Order: sequence, then C-alpha cells, then structure tokens
Amino acid sequence: MSSSHPVLVVGSVALDTVETPFGRREELLGGSATFFAYAATPFAPVRLVSVVGRDFPAEHEERLSQLGIDARGLERADGETFRWTGRYEGDMNVAETLDTKLNVLGTFDPKLPADYRTTPFVFLANAHPANQLSVMDQMETRPAFTVCDTMNYWIEQELDGLREVLRRVDGVVLNDEEARRLTGERNLIRAGRAMLDLGPKVAIVKKGEHGAFLFSMLDFFALPAYPVDSVIDPTGAGDSFAGGLMGSLARAGRVTLARLKRAMIDGTVMASFAVESFSVERLASLGEGEIRSRHEEIVQFLSL
Ligand code: AMP
Repeated sequence: MSSSHPVLVVGSVALDTVETPFGRREELLGGSATFFAYAATPFAPVRLVSVVGRDFPAEHEERLSQLGIDARGLERADGETFRWTGRYEGDMNVAETLDTKLNVLGTFDPKLPADYRTTPFVFLANAHPANQLSVMDQMETRPAFTVCDTMNYWIEQELDGLREVLRRVDGVVLNDEEARRLTGERNLIRAGRAMLDLGPKVAIVKKGEHGAFLFSMLDFFALPAYPVDSVIDPTGAGDSFAGGLMGSLARAGRVTLARLKRAMIDGTVMASFAVESFSVERLASLGEGEIRSRHEEIVQFLSL
C-alpha cells in the first residue's frame, strides 16, 4: 500500500452466479464496488460504501480487511444480499442477465462515515442516480475527481436524475452500448463527444476486448485491451478497469491528461487480470511486479 490519496467507491456488493464456457459457479463474491476495490487497492487506500444482508459470508469481509480495504462503510442490513445471475456465450463480450434479486440493495440509502466525506477521489458505481447524487451531497469538501458509471436501465428509466449526475461529475466511464444509448449516436467517436456535452470534462468509452477511448475537449486517446489468451469470466472487467484507473490517479494525486492516459493503462491491466478467473480470485492474489510488467508491456505496444 502506498501513501497516496484515498479513493471512495459507492456501489454494489453481490453474490453472483455466473455461467461461462468454462463452467457455472454459484454465490461468488461480486458486485461493482467489490471489483473496483480489489482493482484499486494495489494503487491507493480504498474506502468502500455498500450494503450486504445477514447472509453475507464473514470470510469475504475478512478478506477485504486483509487487503487493507476500509469497509467501515459496508452496512449489514436485515435481509438478503444482492444477487445477480449472468451468462456469457460466444466471444463473451456481453453478459446476458438471467436474474437480478436486489434484496437489501433495493432499499439502500448510502451513508458515508464522517471521515469518508473529504475523500479526494470518488467513484460512483452503477446505481440509482438518486443514490449517486446523495453521495455527492454528503461530501464536505469538493473532491479532486469524481467519476460515475451507469447502465442502460437508468438511461431508460431515470434519465433526468442521470443528467443531473452527469452535470456534477468530472468524468464518466461507460461501455460502448451504454454510450450509444445515452447519446443516441451509433458512431462511438460521436457518442464520446456527445457525452462531453452532458457535463463531464472527461468521458471514457470501454469496448471490452477492443480496448477503450478517452475523450476530452483537448485530447483524444485510444488504447487497445491487454491481449488475454484465457478469458475465464468477464464479470467485473468494467469495474476493475475503473478501479485501476481511479487508483492510479489517486496514487498520482492529481489529474492531467498525461496522468489519465497512464491511468487508463492501469485500468486496462487490472481488467485483464479480472477476466482470467471467476470472481476476484486473480485480483486477490496479484503481486506488484505482475501489475508493473503488464503496464510496461502495454507501454511497449504503444511505442513504435
Ligand atoms: P461489470 O462486469 O464490470 O459490468 O460488473 C458486473 C458486476 O456488477 C457483477 O459482479 C454484478 O454483481 C454487478 N451488477 C450486476 N447488475 C447490477 C445492478 N443492477 N446493480 C448493481 N450491480 C450490479
């Protein structure tokens, strides 16, 4: 753990059931905040806000603290933990959601512990826009960099709230389909630029195994994905990308376009590890050297 600035994530902690060509696994540790936290923690101290039910295995919570993740913001509510069931087929780029049981996540009202309210780097994972706004309202000091994610459901059902979130954040990270749905632009370059018109200074569009684009008023950047030859389970790739990205920025302590590009490399590296196993197994056992060496390999790809 470095002495870098802390990162706050507010999102889901889940028990996932996942089917991929490599098998079916039940009740795996998942959720957007989980993948984000596991991916960010090698770079910066992480503070996690989420909710689980009484059935959430204690070992998962112990593992968070062993990794140095501050989970004082993980509420244990009466009821069952959020459950998501998904399947991947073919090129495994798109998850088919088979079942979502919101359980305690359905009534979740995030409450930030007092000392989380001055965290300089904030990630609002996919959630009801009202929850994302409530987190921003609870901040006592203006964060250096706030980034949000969302999903098609909120784009369709809660567009006004989502637009307000987008007016208030510094950055947004979406996948290609979400970017198209949000902006109505089929072409991803046009979609990326249109996202900037909604408020954020920076928009990142992820394209799964095809990499990611960065859009800002001043610059454009395209980064390939790290080539992984054994994708076991893509669940959490997007949130791990966001975790690597925000962790990397927090370690740098400031956000410049050059730092953002390097942070996208770290996001790409963490996503590549996330997909190499079910759940957070691979992320949980990573050494610093492995992270650095993939980062350097990508830098090599980029220099002719
Ligand atoms: P990703 O593959 O990065 O998009 O993230 C997948 C993770 O998001 C899984 O571990 C799920 O538990 C979680 N997830 C799926 N649907 C939802 C939802 N409606 N709200 C919050 N988290 C979700």
